[in-house]
Amino acid sequence: MGVPGVDQLIEARYDPEQLTGILLTHSHWDHVSGIADLDVPVLITEAEIAYATHAKNDTVFAAVSPGHRLITYTFDDGPFEGFPASHDHYGDGSVVVVPAAGHTSGSVIVFVHASDGARYAFIGDLAWQLDGVQRHVDRPWLMRRLADSDPDQVRADLARVSALAGRYRVIPAHDARAFDGIPTLSAEALR
Ligand SMILES: [Zn+2]
Repeated sequence: MGVPGVDQLIEARYDPEQLTGILLTHSHWDHVSGIADLDVPVLITEAEIAYATHAKNDTVFAAVSPGHRLITYTFDDGPFEGFPASHDHYGDGSVVVVPAAGHTSGSVIVFVHASDGARYAFIGDLAWQLDGVQRHVDRPWLMRRLADSDPDQVRADLARVSALAGRYRVIPAHDARAFDGIPTLSAEALR
């Protein structure tokens, strides 16, 4: 059992109220349950709100999102790193979101350019493990049928992400090994 996000923040002596928002890669239950503990807006695409609204087998987002302001955004900032459109959140390239609507119909990839020069691509569940990116391994057929809204789109976006490996640290949400190079949240790091 993992430690809830809000407890990790508090443990690191980061005041959760300082957060300006939660930027989701997608609305599946295992990516959104922590929203309930954080009183901040949620950044999400219209397409993903529609996906979550119609997800009959996954009602967690519907349960945790009321009471939160949903801030939607659109991809008006032109092509980015091989993706046809993007949303440059701060207008300075530090956080750039691109659509990757295969896993769910409103899934996104979040590119982060940290101030120390490190570059990350948070790909959500586009691939479940780094192997899927490095070796361009598809999910087993049955899992793909069950998990992805549009397997062909997943394959196309995975090819785009594979081309970035080396320049970006690619972080699938469920592969703890990929977290190794990310500076961990600690009171020290935040000082
Ligand atoms: Zn997912």
